Amino acid sequence: MALSTPLSQMSVALPIGIDGSSRSMIKVQSVSFTEKSCGPLLRLDTVSRKLSLKKRSTVCMSLQQQASRSKVSVTPLELEDPKETPINLYRPKEPYTAKIVSVERIVGSQAPGETCHIVIDHDGKVPYWEGQSYGVIPPGENPKKPGAPHNVRLYSIASTRYGDSFDGKTASLCVRRAQYYDPETGKEDPSKAGVCSNFLCNAKPGDKVQITGPSGKVMLLPEEDPKATHIMIATGTGVAPFRGYLRRMFMEDVPTFKFDGLAWLFLGVANSDSLLYDEEFSSYLKDYPENFRYDKALSREEKNKKGGKMYVQDKIEEYSDEIFKLLDDGAHIYFCGLKGMMPGIQDTLKRVAEERGESWEQKLSQLRKNKQWHVEVY
Ligand code: FAD
Repeated sequence: MALSTPLSQMSVALPIGIDGSSRSMIKVQSVSFTEKSCGPLLRLDTVSRKLSLKKRSTVCMSLQQQASRSKVSVTPLELEDPKETPINLYRPKEPYTAKIVSVERIVGSQAPGETCHIVIDHDGKVPYWEGQSYGVIPPGENPKKPGAPHNVRLYSIASTRYGDSFDGKTASLCVRRAQYYDPETGKEDPSKAGVCSNFLCNAKPGDKVQITGPSGKVMLLPEEDPKATHIMIATGTGVAPFRGYLRRMFMEDVPTFKFDGLAWLFLGVANSDSLLYDEEFSSYLKDYPENFRYDKALSREEKNKKGGKMYVQDKIEEYSDEIFKLLDDGAHIYFCGLKGMMPGIQDTLKRVAEERGESWEQKLSQLRKNKQWHVEVY
């Protein structure tokens, strides 16, 4: 195949998991690539890492340079047009019936619990922006209201508005299966397992799924300044909206958003087997070292400087001077994940502020006023 020929309508496997193995690949049909000489194959390399770079480097001289420049084309570009954020296009009384495309476990065998990447086909009918959530109504009856459907559960969308298929027809979720362990025996009690997360993680391709939304404006990515700094703090599935941001910044060719600022992701999980989308994020580090930073806190594998478990707040503390300076210069800071993450982080930020002779309360209120502070915890 001549390298200058645009590769369109190709089938390509995109790694979504931690190890790039086939269990963590999703197959995407009809992906189109930017028409750059050598670009398409390089995009494949960046995205799938399935082709041999060595072989191709004999054909094209500027492989590395091009690798960091070529991005995936997305359609339809009308998804950039609306001035208003799409909000609540479908409500719980009249949800949209979408279809499951794929469900993939994306953590390794040593991860506590299970997290799945779930691709949902909405056929372009439930458009959303990066940072929004979908509601899901699991099938069955609400035990608290006999005869009525279950309550809606919200899930942050983990893809860009173009979806993992780059055609605006799918949305991806990153769902942790809610299991229940008896506090006395330590044994799992399946009768108390989370309804919706288990429905989603057990779903099969083709299954129907009732969705609502999209909802939420707190985590929308401000795009007015393409040189802005975005500091993202995630624990576990809280990484979902940031995966969407980062794909928009570094993977997709979006004519109206050419990111040239700094994105800095802090991700806290239990151990290296629990890392989510690690390969995808690591590829941005390689391709965009000036624009992306990625720090991980592995609580069960690493120790903080006091010898305790390493949490995201310990990483924040490690880089606190830089973070405070970036915030003073207008950086946006985002927090997403379990509610329990915030007290530890707030304590750390307060302590750091005091050590710097600043009032955290005043700083926080200024950050909120300037719309630099974005929190979505659950
Ligand atoms: P439920 O059935 O609602 O049960 C809740 C919990 O109670 C479970 O842990 C269950 O094991 C336990 N339980 C059930 N019965 C009993 C009992 N008898 N006694 C004691 N405990 C019991 N989650 C994600 O995984 N990914 C996301 O990206 C995500 N994004 C979110 C975004 C927002 C804005 C919000 C608000 C929430 C988000 N969530 C996300 C959480 C999600 O909405 C659900 O709350 C979560 O999946 C649990 O729902 P469930 O139906 O599985 O559990």
